[in-house]
Amino acid sequence: MKHYKTYIGGEWIETGQTIDVIDKYTGEVIATVPKADRKTVDMAVNSAYEAFETTKKLPAYRRSEILEKAANLIKDRAEEIATTICREAGKAWKYSMGEVSRGYETFKFAAEEAKRIHGETVPMDASAGGVGRIGYYIRVPMGVIGAITPFNFPLNLVAHKVAPAIASGNTIVLKPASSTPITALILAEILEEAGLPKGAFNVVIGPGGEVGEPLITNDRVRKITFTGSPKVGDRITRIAGIKRVTLELGNNSATIIEKDADIDKAIPRCVDSAFANSGQVCISLQRIYVHKDIADEFTKKFAEATKRLKVGNPVEKDVDLGPMIDEAEAKRAEEWIKEAISQGAQLIVGGEREGRVLRPTVLRNTTKEMRVMCMEVFAPIVSIVEYDSFEEAIQHVNDSDYGLQAGIYTNDIRKIQYAIDNLDVGGVMINDTSIFRVDHMPYGGNKMSGIGREGVRFAIEEMTNIKMVTINLN
Ligand code: NAD
Repeated sequence: MKHYKTYIGGEWIETGQTIDVIDKYTGEVIATVPKADRKTVDMAVNSAYEAFETTKKLPAYRRSEILEKAANLIKDRAEEIATTICREAGKAWKYSMGEVSRGYETFKFAAEEAKRIHGETVPMDASAGGVGRIGYYIRVPMGVIGAITPFNFPLNLVAHKVAPAIASGNTIVLKPASSTPITALILAEILEEAGLPKGAFNVVIGPGGEVGEPLITNDRVRKITFTGSPKVGDRITRIAGIKRVTLELGNNSATIIEKDADIDKAIPRCVDSAFANSGQVCISLQRIYVHKDIADEFTKKFAEATKRLKVGNPVEKDVDLGPMIDEAEAKRAEEWIKEAISQGAQLIVGGEREGRVLRPTVLRNTTKEMRVMCMEVFAPIVSIVEYDSFEEAIQHVNDSDYGLQAGIYTNDIRKIQYAIDNLDVGGVMINDTSIFRVDHMPYGGNKMSGIGREGVRFAIEEMTNIKMVTINLN
């Protein structure tokens, strides 16, 4: 078992208290990490505040070099990081390796974007009052960014906050999920080795209320970037005060399978989208709306493909899905399945739970009032629902408090355009499911799914202020 120190002000420090990090499949304690308190948070924010004097003067080419080097170090340590994610997050090996590749790419994109941060000229003479003046704006870093991240992507969702912040000359205090902090500490080692100035990246680990809230309310923090549940997102908007807030929250994601769809192509993709990382992805496929003419065939083939998934220890390379993050969450999900069945849903596959491991579960005849439909399940549970008309299917997708991403399988261009025009979501994936994401595209949700967008370039926009300059030649 390893003990890690935490990284504040460019030093590796102890806080006097520790948190155990557990292997989510075996239950074994794999490491201990320092637990922060309010004092530690203030110390981290002060370090970041002082370091901003250095980072705001770092030229773009230098910020780009640091990010490029960090990307390469992530690649060099890929196996070690993937094994850590497997164990601390319970994510199957192939998806853990996939996350490391994406983390590498997110840093590479940030290295490129660091060189392209710019403003534009403003045609001052468009107003009579502006005649005889030159006008342009520039984008400047904001200062200390407070980043709070969830357990389900311990590397790449941290990268989506840290890499754009470095690219734009800001400094960061990161509070990773307390259940998955080791990957964040490995990233701190990488950023130190990559040459990031001392104090520019700081890690505070501990419970949300005790460690997250002092970060959110600290007046020296200029922006909060949060990925996690709508409940915590809502709390953040209430306590943050006057600072910019970006929120990447949950979803009960849907995908429509029209009758002209190539279901043999759609089914493996839908199965993967429903059960990857045990359904603990913000854009996991939770509701599948299938045209009634193909619903029986789709359900039969979907069930067969689900039964072929291998459930087990995520470190074994051929395992498709492992445990959920904790037993309480797995029990909560099992309860929602039982409740849906008692309300008339039909169990097609799965439903069984052993400790943290919930078998991939397929339900049919679910209705919109059931919790497995109207709330975010964040578990390996998917519902298949039949529909009559495409317009009705679009209404079903929109009949949700959330609006992150949605998918549609059809080749009918009119239906495609109708869906693009009418779906109230941040991203529409045609001939794919809700889960599609690459790391440079704008990403974020409407309604309760959040505020603002990530994706490196878009995160940089949200982490910079516009500064307007006018020159009076009159
Ligand atoms: P969570 O909201 O419980 O925790 C997220 C982070 O917030 C953790 O670091 C936690 O310690 C911290 N936190 C908890 N209470 C806090 C408080 N009062 N003040 C400040 N910080 C606090 O979420 P989770 O269970 O780790 O992750 C699952 C959720 O995250 C799901 O709802 C999922 O959809 C969402 N998510 C969204 C995206 C996205 O990009 N939209 C990506 C991944 C996960």
